[in-house]
Formats: sequence, C-alpha cells, structure tokens
Amino acid sequence: MKGYLYAFASAGRWSAVVTISPEVDLAFWLDAEFRRTVEEMASGCGGEGTGKRQYGKAEERQNGEAATWPGGGREGRLTDGAEAGRSGLADVVLLLDEPLPLGIAFAAAERFAAKARRVRGEARAARLLRACARGAELGGGLRGTLDLFRIFGREGTARRVRRYTAVRWDRASGMREAARKLAAAVCEAADALEGRALLRGEAHALLGVPARRSAAFVDAALQLAALLGRLRLGSAVAGWRRRRCRRCGSGEAHMHRTPCLACGRVCAYCEACLMLGRSRECALLVSGIPAGGASGRLRPADGLPPVPVRLARRGLSPAQSAAAEAALSWLESPDDGGSRAFLIWAVTGAGKTEMMFPLIESVLARGGNVLIATPRRDVVLELEPRIRRAFPGRTVAALHGASREKWTKADITIATTHQTIRFEAGFDLVVIDELDAFPYHNNPMLQYAAEKSLAPGGRRVLLTATPPAELRRAAIRGRLPHARVPVRHHGHPLPVPEELRIPPVRELIRRNAVPDRLKQAVLASLSRGAQLFVFVPRIADTGPVASLLRGVCPPGTAIGHTSSRDERRTETVQRFRNRELRLLVTTTILERGVTIPRSDVFVLDADSPLFDEASLEQMAGRAGRSKEDPHGRVYFCAPHATRAQRAAIRRIREMNAIAAAGGHIRMEAPPGEVRAGGLRR
Ligand SMILES: [Zn+2]
Ligand SMILES: [Zn+2]
Repeated sequence: MKGYLYAFASAGRWSAVVTISPEVDLAFWLDAEFRRTVEEMASGCGGEGTGKRQYGKAEERQNGEAATWPGGGREGRLTDGAEAGRSGLADVVLLLDEPLPLGIAFAAAERFAAKARRVRGEARAARLLRACARGAELGGGLRGTLDLFRIFGREGTARRVRRYTAVRWDRASGMREAARKLAAAVCEAADALEGRALLRGEAHALLGVPARRSAAFVDAALQLAALLGRLRLGSAVAGWRRRRCRRCGSGEAHMHRTPCLACGRVCAYCEACLMLGRSRECALLVSGIPAGGASGRLRPADGLPPVPVRLARRGLSPAQSAAAEAALSWLESPDDGGSRAFLIWAVTGAGKTEMMFPLIESVLARGGNVLIATPRRDVVLELEPRIRRAFPGRTVAALHGASREKWTKADITIATTHQTIRFEAGFDLVVIDELDAFPYHNNPMLQYAAEKSLAPGGRRVLLTATPPAELRRAAIRGRLPHARVPVRHHGHPLPVPEELRIPPVRELIRRNAVPDRLKQAVLASLSRGAQLFVFVPRIADTGPVASLLRGVCPPGTAIGHTSSRDERRTETVQRFRNRELRLLVTTTILERGVTIPRSDVFVLDADSPLFDEASLEQMAGRAGRSKEDPHGRVYFCAPHATRAQRAAIRRIREMNAIAAAGGHIRMEAPPGEVRAGGLRR
C-alpha cells in the first residue's frame, strides 16, 4: 500500500510522519477540540501505563529493551520537545500530495528526522521533505552527504507540497461525532492488538472489516491510535541499505524482489515467513503496545501460597518437584540471575508438561499470561485438553495452521512455533517445548519470533530432553539457569540401547534376508506383547523394510509403514496408537510425541549421518515410558558404531547415574544395565 508523508512544525521544531489516513493527522495536529476529545476518550480506556504518546517518547518506552524489542518504534519518531507549544498542536503541516510506497515513506521520515534539527523555515522544510522522499525512493544506497542532498532537492521539486494551518469541519457536531467514533475504535484496536504484530489485512479482519466497518474507517482508527501512542505502525519490511522483515527478523538473504501491484514498483518481500501471509516493503505492520510499560506487569509472588503447597497440589514426582521448584524460584524472583531464559533439561518421559503447570499457575495468579510454543500441530492438539483440565476457569487458545481461532485472546495460548511470528511483546511467560526439534532449532526466524513474543520483563522457559550443544555448555558453565530431571515420572531408569551389528538396510533389501540376531530380537519383542517402532533414515526404505519384516514375523502380524510423504500418515499413526498395528516402520517423524504404552525400539542404519545424537536419544526415548512397562528394549542396528550412537548411549547412562545418585531410581538392578553386559554380541 501507499502512505502520505508530511512534516509539521510545533514550537519551531520540524518533524516528519507517515500516515495512512491524512485527514486524521491534520485534525490531530491542527484542531484543538478534536485533539482534546480523542485524547480524553482514549486515555479513559487503557490499562495503567498505556496512553503514552508515541512521538517524542519512543526512547522512554524502549527503556533498555532495544535489543529484544524488534521494530523499536523509531519510524517517523519526532524529536523531544515536539509536543511543546499549544497543547502539542502544530503551527503548520506540509503534506506531500502524492502518496509513496509505504516502505519508502517510512524510510523518508527517518531521513527527515536525522536532518530536522538544522531546518529553519517552511521553505527549507518543504525542500527537505521532497529530498527525503526522493532519496528514499532511490533506494538508500546514496544517503548522507550534503552534495547528494542538494542534487536530490533539485530533482524532487516536481512533487508538490500542500500547506495546511487549520481544518474546517462542516458542523462542530460532525467533528465531535467523528472524534468519538474514532476514539472508541482506537480503544478497541489497542486492546485487540495488544501483544500482536499483524499485517494490515489481518488487523482489519480482527477489527471487523468488512462486516462491521469499512477499511477506510479502520485505517483512520489505526492511524489515530499510532498518533496517540496506543499502537505502532511501520512497513513490514524495513531498512534502507539492507532490508529486514520486522515481523520475523529475517534479513537480506530472505528478501525477494518482485514487481508489486500494491505500490507499482519492484518491492521486496520476505520469503521466510511467507506461509503466514506476505510481509512486504509496502505492507503495513501494526504492532500492539504492551500494557504495563517496560517494567513488566506481573504482581510480586508474595501473596501466593508457599511453593511446597503449590507443588503438592500438582502431584509431581520428587524429581519433577525439584526441577519445578528451581524454575519457580527463578521465575518469581525479581532478579532473573542475568538470564531471561531457564532450561528444564528433562529426560524423555519425565513428564515435562506437568512440570510446566506450577509455572503457568504462578504467572496467571500474578495477572500475567502464557504462551506455550511447540514444534508440531499434533502436540498443540494433544496439549489443549490437558491444559484446559489443569486450569479450569482460564481461557485457552490453540493456534496452528488450520485453526479457526486465530484471534482469540486467552490466558494460555498454545501455538505451533510458526504462529508465534504474529505476536509481539504479548506474553509474560513463553514456554518453548522441544526446543531442539525441527523447525525451531537452528532457525533464527523462529528464535527471533519467540524472543519478540515476550512482554517487557517477560521470561522464557525452555524444555527439552536433548539440548543442543551450545545450550548444554551454557547450562553447565552456569550462564543459563537450569534444572535437570534425570529420571522418568515412574522412577525407572531409561532403557539403555543395545547395539546389534548387522549389514546396512539396503544390503538386507537387496539380499531379501533378515539377519538372525535382528529376527530373534524382533520375535522376542513381539512375544513379550510389545509394539515395535522400527526407525529407518530414508523414506524410500520404509515400504521395503516393512515387507522384509513381514517375512519373518508370525503370520497375521499387522505391520505398517509411514513417513512425511505418507498421505494417510495421521490414520496410520492412529492405527498404531490403537494397537491395530503391531509394528510400524517409520522415519524420524515419529521420534517425538507419539507415546505407546508397551513398546520397543529398533533403529536400523543407526550409523546414518541423518541420525544425530539427539535424534537417537529421542528415538530410544520412545521405549519404556509407561508405569506398566517401564523397561522397554532399544536396539541400535548398524554395521558400525558411530560417535553419535556412542554419545547417545553415554548420555543415557549418565542420566541414569545422576538419577541413581540423587536417589530417584526405584530399581536396584535395572534390566537395561544388566543386558548391557551383552553389548557387541
Ligand atoms: Zn519475514
Ligand atoms: Zn509493493
């Protein structure tokens, strides 16, 4: 879209602003009565700490948060003192009569702000305004020197500047009516958009366009909200020399330039967050302003029941309790120990969801809200009913690609990691589940989004069984506060993988033969009544391996296979969950999330580079999760041992040892360790 650029003088100082609704700005700066009416009404509807004016106050709001507050609110910022003079009104407004593509308009306003101090007199201000617009149009690579500045000034003279000193309404009552309607919409918009960063179309949908209101009216309300400091407006992709997506944080590497119908130029869009709608240079991004200001809005924890009482209510195991207590004391302490994140490093099957409950409870009880971000949609769907049961009377929203309740405001929001891109400064506690899992790990966009979704003073809790190396190091060296949960909720040790030396899968398929030791292990698992996860690294091998195993299993054994390319994947997994399938050949898509009460795990081609240490640990973690069958069996099958296999086994033993030393293990002689004597058979 396009926006208008204007400059105004107040108490002798010049400032430039971009508007998507020029009438609103003219009335705001030039009509005292309109200004008073909207300010009074809009100040009555916000929580404490809101209602600060955007212009001239940007620094104050940022308050040392610049690094974690993307966007920064600097676009079109006015210099301090601009609001002096007659109750913040302007003496004159100079408006460029031709609208500019939004990204260019905002860039031009920034250029103007950088030079505004030196401007004296309307003629010079008008010249600077045109020069800035022209300079921004040329793409920013040429900014700066006085030389270029003069050249631009001359070239830009074609664009006309209109001069306004007053607005005249048809009737005074018409003005008051308009002011009232707009101010009411400002309140609604500020409330609805709090904690969010939405593209214009999304903000419009949220505010009832077209059913309840026209797009023009909502644009006017958004613009007025920005003038009143209740929202921030900017271009979704910003920057002069290097473009950056303000929604997802991606840089030049993710920018694509295409001819654009909306602005009539070649303009850049961000392909990194494309699945959530196109974030463009000329697209408007509307960001909410957090209530409570930069100091955070959580009440102190003094009024809450003692920690042991709160933990006892949740029926946690001693190991879960200890970790939850450590996390709680960090969360409730005014001093975060130099880190806004806390790592809960809990073995697979430790019951990390239950450990979140006391943390969520603490934040809700202190007036805050919570976001749980998780990599996969299945997990969102699985978590939702559990969270609802655990927090009756609280509102819960579940967001994923296909969910309808995109705009629901809730005490607890459960979302796929991608959905967090639409939030900004919205949550006092952000829990990141399966932090090391695809798509979050090594994805700067999602990490940026998770950081961005934190409200000022908010904190993050990271949950994982297999922290990436850098986090592990930070935790061990004391830079990242953390708690380890070395034992499963049922108190039995993790099954230690056994290594079976067999030829590569391709070889087995070619020879159409299953080695005897693999066959014996599979039959033993079947005869003890277990269901079998058989992991293979390549999608293409799932089918052939399933037929191969069919040849050695007793007749009638139901065997299935699935992968990310399987269209009936959900159905196949459901049949496995229902015990209709005894054996499922799968890729790593099932390495997390799916829990089968009595199950054994076979990892074929365990030496494949596609299986790293974390992935091997996660796959092994599928076995022995239930109280009824805590000693599942795990086999790493491959011609060779690899570093990853050895590391995964070492880490599993290490966790068992820590658990034993901490007195958390129920069994004196875990069968996994006894069987370990038979390694490298
Ligand atoms: Zn983006
Ligand atoms: Zn465009």
